[in-house]
Amino acid sequence: MILEPSGRIRKEAFCTRPMVCPYCNGRGWFHTNQQEPETEPCPDCQGTGEVIALVTIDWKPNNEN
Ligand SMILES: [Zn+2]
Repeated sequence: MILEPSGRIRKEAFCTRPMVCPYCNGRGWFHTNQQEPETEPCPDCQGTGEVIALVTIDWKPNNEN
């Protein structure tokens, strides 16, 4: 990936492609109790089964000159 400032410098952000949630292995939920069929949504992916990485780019003046 090549980073170049365009126009005014500002914060930029981009997302990775969706990836399988490693915590719930893409299921999106966990059993709340071994005996009962109740489930609760995965806290990491909030029940979606997928996660993305949000990468923020913060352009700054070069003050090191
Ligand atoms: Zn998950």
